[in-house]
Amino acid sequence: MNKFVLDIAKDCGFCSGVIFAIKKAKESANKYGKVAMLKNIVHNEIVVKELSNIGIVVVNSIDDIGEMPLLLQAHGTEKNILDELKKRNIKTIDATCPLVKHIHRVAKELENEERKIVVIGDHGHDEVNGIVSQVQNGIVVNSVAEAEQISDYSKFGIVSQSTQMLSNYENIVNTISKKSDNVKAINTICNPSRNNQNEAKRLAKENEIVLIIGSFTSANTKRLLEISKAINKKSYQIQSWEDVDLKWLNGIKKIGITAGASTPEELISEVKNKLEKYN
Ligand code: SF4
Repeated sequence: MNKFVLDIAKDCGFCSGVIFAIKKAKESANKYGKVAMLKNIVHNEIVVKELSNIGIVVVNSIDDIGEMPLLLQAHGTEKNILDELKKRNIKTIDATCPLVKHIHRVAKELENEERKIVVIGDHGHDEVNGIVSQVQNGIVVNSVAEAEQISDYSKFGIVSQSTQMLSNYENIVNTISKKSDNVKAINTICNPSRNNQNEAKRLAKENEIVLIIGSFTSANTKRLLEISKAINKKSYQIQSWEDVDLKWLNGIKKIGITAGASTPEELISEVKNKLEKYN
């Protein structure tokens, strides 16, 4: 008979930005009936489905918005899209996380100091596209290898995607610092991400296995998996209880559980309850 204890990461699941965006989505659906959303507001299929049930319609292009107001996603919107929305007089409801807006402001301030802007982040990610679009001369760098390739500039200004791993940020800043003696790097990894990453490290050290709950489309969930796996090989990403392989639990005495910033509480509770029942 298995007997294990569960160690749940502090504050795992929805971050403040996702809570804010979902609240905005619900309020606007109440007010306007149907509300358009360009791509998904958060990277979790269950949340997106719940929102679609109350009138939030995912559209692929501005051309498909029609008469609906548009909810701007938590991770920010590219400047050229915002300009186009304005040109077409499309009403917008801003659900951008205040911490993402802070990164936009920092990038613009660094550019005003005539620095070459480097955004440390995932190529093609919505948040990163939004940040880099705020400035005229921004580039995205994802790894030390990429940082080594960039040309020398007299002045660099560096910001980070909110969910980046601290070690990746620091390594890239160190690499770029060898290219110029005037580098201003502002660590814009948000507090919820830092806390989640620290908790993932702790869980990986203190538990025999770690379950990381979140969608396979969620970059921050993937990051938690990487962090945990680097310390504890028995770290597994699951989307829900269905993905748990009971063999993982054989003879285990301590299980760590964490979740990505867009994982709903009900999924975390489900995994927790089923594990307790299995126990
Ligand atoms: S991860 Fe951080 S920056 Fe991104 S939405 Fe959540 S709180 Fe905001």
